[in-house]
Amino acid sequence: MNTLKYLNIIKFFCTKRSGAHPYVMLNVYKALIKSRITYGAIATLKETNNQEIYQLVQVVKNAALRAILGYTKSTPITTMLAEAAEYPIKYDLERAAARFIIAKLSQNHDNQNYLEKIPHGSHLMTIFNSIKNTAMVKAASSVPNNLKMFDSIEGSHQKNVTPNIILKKSSLETISKFENYFMIYTDGSLDEDSRGIGIYFNDTKEMYSRRIMAEVSICTVELIAILMALKIGILMGKRKIAVLTDSKSAVVSLKRNNNNKYFSTQIHNLIHKNPEKDFVIQWIPSHVGVPGNESADAAAKNGLTSTEILDIPIPKGDNYKIIDRKIFERWKNEFKERTRIKGKFYGDLMNQQPSNVPWFKHKGLDTGKIKLFNRIRSNHTYAKNFLNLMNVIDDETCDACNEIENAEHIIFKCKKFTSERQRHNFSKKYKNYIEMCRDTSSSNISDIAEYLKEIKKDI
Ligand SMILES: [Zn+2]
Repeated sequence: MNTLKYLNIIKFFCTKRSGAHPYVMLNVYKALIKSRITYGAIATLKETNNQEIYQLVQVVKNAALRAILGYTKSTPITTMLAEAAEYPIKYDLERAAARFIIAKLSQNHDNQNYLEKIPHGSHLMTIFNSIKNTAMVKAASSVPNNLKMFDSIEGSHQKNVTPNIILKKSSLETISKFENYFMIYTDGSLDEDSRGIGIYFNDTKEMYSRRIMAEVSICTVELIAILMALKIGILMGKRKIAVLTDSKSAVVSLKRNNNNKYFSTQIHNLIHKNPEKDFVIQWIPSHVGVPGNESADAAAKNGLTSTEILDIPIPKGDNYKIIDRKIFERWKNEFKERTRIKGKFYGDLMNQQPSNVPWFKHKGLDTGKIKLFNRIRSNHTYAKNFLNLMNVIDDETCDACNEIENAEHIIFKCKKFTSERQRHNFSKKYKNYIEMCRDTSSSNISDIAEYLKEIKKDI
């Protein structure tokens, strides 16, 4: 099995206390092993009894993480996974399978038939059913000639230093150029699990609010608001339509004309179908007191709780992120449960929340120090208590203090090293061991490594 060959390569490059950089090696793991494991995710999840496969693959993953991060044999798996910002295997497979399904559906809706052959009652079916209505990727059409787009206003303003009153004046000057257009203000709003669009018609002073039930990105929400505004303007028979949005990223996306943004393409296509009309999409700054923008903002906020729901297909990129967030939520709950039983110290250290970025990413620290601090943060080091656990020595007590000699004892308590300890920052800075473990600054870690070197303790 190739996967095992790659595991040995990883082990070869990662010795206990030094070797290749953990962040680099995590990427090597992802490229060589994780990709192979998730490649067959669909097949694995089609099996109704896949517990055995999960366990087998999890063993390989655990061994790789242990070598890469420099952990002892006693370190709980939950701690290793969380510290590497990785998930248990079942989530890796689910995520890969969900992405595969979303990609298939976005290419061609006929793939629905292919996917319907998934065995009922299998885990894959559950994943398939949880995926929201996927939008199909359409080839980008050219930017229509009858559409003008502007991502700035009159005058040159330095970002963040221009007073609102000036920005408001410039915005109103810009807007006045479209006096003979049918003017529509749009806005998008989002809170934790809801999205709202708001549209305000300048001539009729009417407001339009709708709720979107999927957790799409704010840029997607803003583009949907623009699309709806244009559709309504066209239905009303207007010949010249100007949409005023406070989303710069939406205007930039419309100008760029790539097919990554499903709703940009939809907007272009709608305008192509109406060649006799003139369209303008103008960016204006938000929250500077432009009345139409304030009204659209209020309409979008109403949309968040509106009972009128807009049923729209979800772009691929948004769908990926929805799946990622769902899986992270489930892992968070599982982490909480698991650390109640095993790895309690690490659970408390993280306040029961696993991270989604390894603490050592982009840290200018050498491998030895990262691995040392990984062990310290897991509360599983090569101190006497571990050696005793592994039956290397019979006695785990410190010969001077008659207390168990673990990392906390060596770093914070042991009376043999009182004078050395006093010369180091950590002893004054932190009340206790767990607090010190939370500080992942290079200065803190180097300080502790220096102290251990002085007292000649290799943990
Ligand atoms: Zn001691």
